[in-house]
Amino acid sequence: MEKETKIQLKGMPVGELEQFCISIGEPKYRGAQIFNWIYNHLADDFGEMQNLSKQLREKLSSSASLSVFNLKEVQQSHNTSTKKFLLSTNDNRNIESVVIPDKERNTLCISTQVGCPLDCKFCATGLLGYKRNLTSAEIVDQYLQAAKIYGKPAITNIVFMGMGEPLLNYENTLKSISIFTDEMNKGLSRTRITVSTAGITHRINELADSGLRVKMALSLHSCFEEVRSTIMPINVKYPLKGTIEALKYYAKATKTRITFEYTMLKGINDRPEDVKALIRLCSSLPSKLNIIPFNSIKHMSPGGISSQLEPTPKDKIEAFAQKLRESNITVMIRDTQGDDIAAACGQLAGKHVN
Ligand code: SF4
Repeated sequence: MEKETKIQLKGMPVGELEQFCISIGEPKYRGAQIFNWIYNHLADDFGEMQNLSKQLREKLSSSASLSVFNLKEVQQSHNTSTKKFLLSTNDNRNIESVVIPDKERNTLCISTQVGCPLDCKFCATGLLGYKRNLTSAEIVDQYLQAAKIYGKPAITNIVFMGMGEPLLNYENTLKSISIFTDEMNKGLSRTRITVSTAGITHRINELADSGLRVKMALSLHSCFEEVRSTIMPINVKYPLKGTIEALKYYAKATKTRITFEYTMLKGINDRPEDVKALIRLCSSLPSKLNIIPFNSIKHMSPGGISSQLEPTPKDKIEAFAQKLRESNITVMIRDTQGDDIAAACGQLAGKHVN
């Protein structure tokens, strides 16, 4: 098969599109026109770009591409409105993204890697290992695919919480955020975009200094270094203490509130000392806590500590949250949206990734 040599235009910020247009002998402003077609009209064929001349459309078709994913399957949850998208890349890798409707908003959870190298013990994606980083085109096309199905204005929020660690694919994550938040891209704003990290400390600092000012979430899951290192091996390289310092810097530099994600694991992080440690931590910076009921990963037949993990019972989660609220901590208990189609937190890509 002939090797694809065309330049991929999705995933290029406006400035890069302008440079590309100059490089093929076209005026700079054509870059903004192409950006508008891709992100506001969801065009994935140059033939649709009616304000470009026929000659230019042909020139673009011969040198550039807008083809990123093949949408293989859309799974609809039976008990919620959650939908999961199975997308196949041009090199036949499969990834997943999820749309979670909630009242007036639809949140798109996007992936940044095929698999994940971080091996968090409660996460189906982590059990798969790491295959490769997604390109910026592959990150933004998850949004474009969902926008085509729901209509562009309907996708109101984006969370980088799907497969992979976004801050280990830093350049492409940054590029995609700059596209999502570009004022030419109508309907999305920085306040509706959240990057979730397991704690890549130096990248948190860099993102704080980037000027993008999106929201930041930390996959916390324990306030104790030893426990956290057991369930999240990345904590050995980037201990929580340093990560919290970086998050304090982030909150101050961006004037945003940090979200802590906390998956409740029976006997591991639902003890009275965990409540006390969470109160101490959450009181030390502008923050809120999202409690996530643990979604089973038994369908992955995991070994080691992963096979022993069990969810904290619902009534115990409620009591745990209540104690935190009594100390003025903002706490939300997240629904297990889409667990019937393995689309809930930590369940992505169980059977599909190759
Ligand atoms: S929880 Fe996130 S960082 Fe951890 S293994 Fe899963 S995808 Fe990777």
